[in-house]
Amino acid sequence: MEKCYLTIGLEVHCQLLTKAKMFCRCGTDYIGKEPNSLVCPVCMGLPGSLPVMNRKAMELAIRTAMTLHCEILPRVIFHRKNYFYPDLPKGYQISQFDFPIGINGTLEFMGQGEKKKVRIKRVHVEEDAGKLVHEGLNIPSECSGVDFNRCGIPLVEIVTEPDLHSPEDARDYLTMLRSIVRYIGVSDGNMEEGSLRCDANISLSLTEKTMGVKVEVKNMNSFRSVYHALEFELSRQQKCLAEGKKLFPETRHWDETRGVTVSSRGKEEAQDYRYFPDPDLLPHTIEQVILNDIQSNLPELPLEKKERFMFDYELTETEANVLVQDCSLANFFESCIKELNKPKFIANWVITEVLKNLNDLRQDIQHSKITPAALMDLLKMVDRKEISGTIAKSVLEDMFQSGAKAKDVIAKKGISFMSNEKELEKIVHQIIEQNPQSIADYLSGKEKALHFLIGQVMKVTRGQASPEIVKNILNKELSAERSLCGPREPF
Ligand SMILES: [Zn+2]
Repeated sequence: MEKCYLTIGLEVHCQLLTKAKMFCRCGTDYIGKEPNSLVCPVCMGLPGSLPVMNRKAMELAIRTAMTLHCEILPRVIFHRKNYFYPDLPKGYQISQFDFPIGINGTLEFMGQGEKKKVRIKRVHVEEDAGKLVHEGLNIPSECSGVDFNRCGIPLVEIVTEPDLHSPEDARDYLTMLRSIVRYIGVSDGNMEEGSLRCDANISLSLTEKTMGVKVEVKNMNSFRSVYHALEFELSRQQKCLAEGKKLFPETRHWDETRGVTVSSRGKEEAQDYRYFPDPDLLPHTIEQVILNDIQSNLPELPLEKKERFMFDYELTETEANVLVQDCSLANFFESCIKELNKPKFIANWVITEVLKNLNDLRQDIQHSKITPAALMDLLKMVDRKEISGTIAKSVLEDMFQSGAKAKDVIAKKGISFMSNEKELEKIVHQIIEQNPQSIADYLSGKEKALHFLIGQVMKVTRGQASPEIVKNILNKELSAERSLCGPREPF
């Protein structure tokens, strides 16, 4: 078929990390709570209740907009976005319309090894809706329940211009955005728990200059599902166009189990929501001094950190990328370096072994039992060649599971540091006697034979010897052997 041009724009909702909801004092820590236990007349929209703006939420939204290089609109006006849905008790959502917090921003991300830039159309604040529950203990099979605990929790919505052109781009942009909201402490960005949600607008056209028909895809709750939903939508629309069928604007839901998008309704336009300024919330202007304060406290961002890591610690781009993706991991790495100034060596352990253990335990570094000091106690032993890397790996695994100190794990496992030279010398002699062919090979100049001999010693000691010490002893013994043989002269 003819070449198609794909355009994607993303709308991301991030739950802001505030203690209270957007317009009332109810708590936001709703996970695992009894349904409808975090509610009050304001978030339930009862008559006579009045909303009061949460200042912290506004600060976090401004911080997000500033980080995304937006132009800040200090005039705050809240609008009512009217629509009917059972999880929205007021019949409208308080949101922002023609005066968002920020406009015209940009975000840079790494997409398939290339630095890419997306324009950010707007950043605005709004309140979340409740949640329909279709199954549970007290819900009869023919009914649905509604839990308003989430209703009124502050969200920041980040809308891109249609600047993304592949499912990979969309996934990489989201990865960077999540990393940023975590870096600046505005959201935990946890997609699985719903604190980061993404809707995608996708259109396919036959010419590069015109946009196709805009289809919105919702209900994707992981980076993987965003990627697969977009891939599916791309091939569905391609097929439609190839068959000469007409596409029409609509909202489609991603069905994770079936791996397809399903049409759910025609797409609403802004006029369908009958936006009007909320008469209960007066417009106001954010003072410049507050804006300056937020601006001056923005932390270092992932891409800046990556460049610093490459320059200061001489890490490769791949190494630096892995370390900076999660701010806590980057901090963990930097704390380790303070204990032993060998960044390359430490980076290698963090990227391979630390991440492997975190992955196995499905933990992040913040919630793991390993501290930088604990890891460094172990790595210093490796650095001093007291234990081998193989032993250290198995000790580390135990440390991750039990939280015990390296020394205690080593004692418990009965690992003796076989750095006692006398004992090792005996084993080396034994190996030399058992492998005359390798000795002859080595003496005739085959360096590889030495590695084989070291390997044999490590095998006999079950990996408990220090390879460095074994190598020294072997070298000493073999050079003695060489001088005994004398130079080889032809007869
Ligand atoms: Zn409330």
